[in-house]
Formats: sequence, structure tokens, C-alpha cells
Amino acid sequence: AEKLDFISSSIRTFQDFPKKGVPFKDIFPILKDPKALATVIDLFEEYVRSSYVQVDLIVGLDARGFLFGPLLAQRLGIGFIPIRKKGKLPGPTLSVVYSLEYATAEAEMQQDAVTAGQKVLVIDDLLATGGTLWAACELLRQQKAEVLGCLVVVELKDLGGSDKLKPTTVHSLIQY
Ligand code: 5GP
Repeated sequence: AEKLDFISSSIRTFQDFPKKGVPFKDIFPILKDPKALATVIDLFEEYVRSSYVQVDLIVGLDARGFLFGPLLAQRLGIGFIPIRKKGKLPGPTLSVVYSLEYATAEAEMQQDAVTAGQKVLVIDDLLATGGTLWAACELLRQQKAEVLGCLVVVELKDLGGSDKLKPTTVHSLIQY
């Protein structure tokens, strides 16, 4: 709990960003403080080691999932792969369309990134409505990967993201 309080103190809220009415959680102060960042990775590592016997890959989401994913993967001694917004990855890719509040978006991964049966955990900085993580899990399942669960630093509970992701579980360090 002390560790979680410490991380909480490194998250700031900006009202009306990126548009009016949105209280945006800024996680970058965590990265500015090496102790806070190490604590986040410690907590994710402890959770993963105590919850799963085997994990083959960490999958990180564009863009802030890329900040935490590779660090966690290194700690666990496993690899990291990215899921990106459409048009950013070279070579053959697979994509899935998903809906945002007022538009659609497309998540993409390289075709050879995972092989059938690989056990993966998906990581991002924050869970809001769950649309982004849902798309990532869908893409991984289309590739026949086994999605063990999702990890986020922050979960915005009122937006119902964890329900949207069911039966896939989400582990969050901080909840608002
Ligand atoms: P969702 O798809 O769950 O509605 O939105 C989550 C995605 O949007 C994540 O990739 C996350 O980085 C971004 N996001 C949405 N709201 C916030 C926020 O308040 N703070 C941060 N850091 N990211 C957010």
C-alpha cells in the first residue's frame, strides 16, 4: 500500500484535456522519478510471477504501453512486441477496427509477431472505456495467441472498461 501511495503521488490530473470535460491522468511524472518507475515495474513483476506459471510475451499498446512493457518484459526475461496504430509497422500486418467515442480506429500488429498458442499479457498505461485493450486482445486471439490478461497502471473505474474486456481480466495498480 505504501508503494501504491507513492505511485499515486506521481500521477497528475489535467482538467479538460484533450477536450472539455475530460480529466486527463498524466502518468509521465512516474517516468521522471526513477524510484517511481522502478516501483511500478516491481509491482507488475510481483503480480505476474505470483499469478502465472508461464508467460511467453508482453504485448504493449501504442504509445504509452511502450514505456512500461519492455521494462517488464526484461525483468521477466521474456520478449516484447508492439500493437500500433494503423500504418506504423512494416511488412505483412493484421489489423482490427474498433470504435472510439466519436470515430473508429485501427490497431495493427506484424503477422509474425506471435505464434499460435503463445501465452501473452497485454500492457497499457491506462484503462478507460476498454476499447483499445479490447481491440488488442481481439487481434491476438485472431492470431491464436492465448491472452492471459491485461495490465494497466491506472484504471478509470466509472467507464466500465473491465466489464467490456470480460472474460479477460485486467490488473490495475491504481484505480480512480
Ligand atoms: P480506452 O480505449 O480504454 O477508452 O482508452 C485507453 C487508451 O486511451 C489508452 O491507450 C490510454 O493511453 C489513452 N487514455 C485515455 N484516457 C487517458 C488518460 O486520462 N490518461 C492517459 N495517460 N491516457 C489515456
